[in-house]
Amino acid sequence: MAIATNLGFPRMGANRELKRLLERYWQGKIGAEALNEGAAEVRATNWQWQAEAGITQVPVGDFSLYDHVLDWAIRVGAVPAAYRTAKLVSHLDRYFAMARGSQQGVDLPAMEMTKWFNTNYHYIVPEWSTDQEFHLDAESFLKQVIAAQQISADARPVVLGPVSLLLLGKLKGSNESPLVLLDRLLPVYEGLLQQLSEAGCTWVQWDEPVLALDLDDEAKQALRHSLNVLSGSFGKSQLVLTSYFESLRENLPLAFELPVAAVHLDLVCGPEQLREALQHVREDQFLSLGLVDGRNVWRTNLTKAIALAESAAAAIGSERLFIAASCSLLHSPVDLATETEIDNEVKSWLAFARQKLDEIATITKAINNGPDSVAPALQQNAAAIESRRSSIRTHNPAVRDRVAAVSPESLRRQSNYEKRQSRQRDRLKLPLFPTTTIGSFPQTGAVRQARAAFRKGELSAEEYRQFLQSETEVCIRRQESLGLDVLVHGEFERNDMVEYFGEQLEGFAVSKNGWVQSYGSRCVKPPIIFGDVDRLTPMTVPMAAYAQSLTDRPVKGMLTGPVTILCWSFVRDDQPRQETCQQVALAIREEAIDLERAGIGVIQIDEPALREGLPLRKFDQPGYLAWAVDAFRLASSGVKDETQIHTHMCYCEFNEILPSIAALDADVISIETSRSQMELLEGFVEFRYPNEIGPGVYDIHSPRVPSSREMVGLLSKAVDVIPARRLWVNPDCGLKTRGWPEVEAALSAMVEAAQEVRSLL
Ligand code: GLN
Ligand code: ZN
Repeated sequence: MAIATNLGFPRMGANRELKRLLERYWQGKIGAEALNEGAAEVRATNWQWQAEAGITQVPVGDFSLYDHVLDWAIRVGAVPAAYRTAKLVSHLDRYFAMARGSQQGVDLPAMEMTKWFNTNYHYIVPEWSTDQEFHLDAESFLKQVIAAQQISADARPVVLGPVSLLLLGKLKGSNESPLVLLDRLLPVYEGLLQQLSEAGCTWVQWDEPVLALDLDDEAKQALRHSLNVLSGSFGKSQLVLTSYFESLRENLPLAFELPVAAVHLDLVCGPEQLREALQHVREDQFLSLGLVDGRNVWRTNLTKAIALAESAAAAIGSERLFIAASCSLLHSPVDLATETEIDNEVKSWLAFARQKLDEIATITKAINNGPDSVAPALQQNAAAIESRRSSIRTHNPAVRDRVAAVSPESLRRQSNYEKRQSRQRDRLKLPLFPTTTIGSFPQTGAVRQARAAFRKGELSAEEYRQFLQSETEVCIRRQESLGLDVLVHGEFERNDMVEYFGEQLEGFAVSKNGWVQSYGSRCVKPPIIFGDVDRLTPMTVPMAAYAQSLTDRPVKGMLTGPVTILCWSFVRDDQPRQETCQQVALAIREEAIDLERAGIGVIQIDEPALREGLPLRKFDQPGYLAWAVDAFRLASSGVKDETQIHTHMCYCEFNEILPSIAALDADVISIETSRSQMELLEGFVEFRYPNEIGPGVYDIHSPRVPSSREMVGLLSKAVDVIPARRLWVNPDCGLKTRGWPEVEAALSAMVEAAQEVRSLL
């Protein structure tokens, strides 16, 4: 009998209950007991749902109050010295101090956070020290295991394996790989495995997600070594080795060679690897088939999934199969049934986490009892798949024609950068070191309230428009009195830089409750790209034109770039991402052309997610970068030479993709640099980045107001390496999370700094 399993479930609850609990705890409105009770309820509900859906091996330990990597760092005793010695009231306070910093009595920064593989989930980067000692601290983990067993007897503990755990962290004060600590760490895992066996766990999920990456020999050896050492401690438990987000490729033989009783395959990313896996699977091993997409929102094509599972059953017998989602469902919204915003047709094409559980159960039943045993579910599924395949909303001939007409010329500006630069100088007449901002200004309570009132129908469209115009006018006047050179309208009409466009473009659906955890209590609600993308009317022109009408200074039009829109949406899976990106790029191109016609001379196309879309495997990266760059160029090249195109990037290491950033051929790029003290600029200098640059001169992530002297210091560093004529002065990123008083103080200091640097030349 094949077994229905699951790798992990969303942690927030169907109505983001955990988010509310956490935020109330942080505000001091509830105590630790209420938080822990509330969290236990969310966990129990999750287990209940999974058990009821027919999942036999319900995951436990996939839950976290903030982040599972942080949880594992703590479970192996790796609390960095600063947090260990600080006087904090409780374990929980220490935990949150590591996760998000603390200013209660002690001043502790948050630990570093970074993206979990190629997802939009962020984990806390463990800090290892060269004299690192480990000890097992798994009491609460074991309590959860026992609680889960009450609901589901075969509950499956999820363990982050030692090799991935070490490699996800950083060894401070050393250039060596964190794997030098492996032998010190393994005894802790031995202790854990013994306890899990004693607790009666028949299966343990052994996450080693690094198997999805390019691995060097040291890492491969570490995987072999760790499991050989630990195999003496398995006791009555068996391990299912899991990785996801990529095919195993050349790591596949290694995975099956390890002393594990099952290997999981992400068959959504790589269905082709099943064949090779069937050749490598040992007779004593199970295969875990990841057939349901754990990180996108589409209904599984059950006929296809069952056929794939049947081919595996024919080869090794259904009794050696686990049926699963491709990865943890952490990356899916919770429940489609609570969705009220998406129309019924599109809704019928979707599956959120709870619906995915049903899909796993249906596939399992079909394998065990024959497809007839699930005939109604299969029929319904086939009808939904066919409705999606043939819907005119997914195939818009006009869009297809426009994409087909894209020529190499559409990807090139009319003239080269030098010519454009001189035309733009004649038109814009900006001083040296022009000052500007990245786009958004404070989204105050009043702005959010007005948007909510408009959504509820309490404010008419006309009243809302007038409100936005008056906010914009105030914003323009403030920028004028601050003395900024290139102004922005302030983005008050935008809830989110991607959702705002998703709401207006054809081919997008925006959900009401499709939240996915991004980090800690923060959730995002990615729009869903289900069909061909079409722009019916201008999306940003009226607001930009209105702002420009208020002032003689240039107002910058603000657009989100095609790659960022793609990366921060759920993307259709019935055509290559590249094609969807091209359609979005065409829509943005039309918008840019309309902005130009409306008299906007400077247009910024933000691409903060360009680096984020980079595939995990080196082999795939050049292909992605080529089409991503082309998409930006398609979006930005429809305008005349004298229209200045800006782009903006943040939150990333740019150096490894610098050639691609240069290939965007934006006239001006603004980047986040202040926290690295302009160090990031070095790469741009080394690479001889040819166009204009605005290295961020202050960190907008903190309420701290920098002095103009500090900013003069940073700018002087920049002038040392980049010709003055190519430098701009701006903050690191948009200002929407800040308050007006600090924004005005910081920008006034920034303008002063620019004036001073001008006078020094
Ligand atoms: N224009 C956007 C803003 O200012 C850019 C945001 C971003 O880079 N993430 O908010
Ligand atoms: Zn930014």
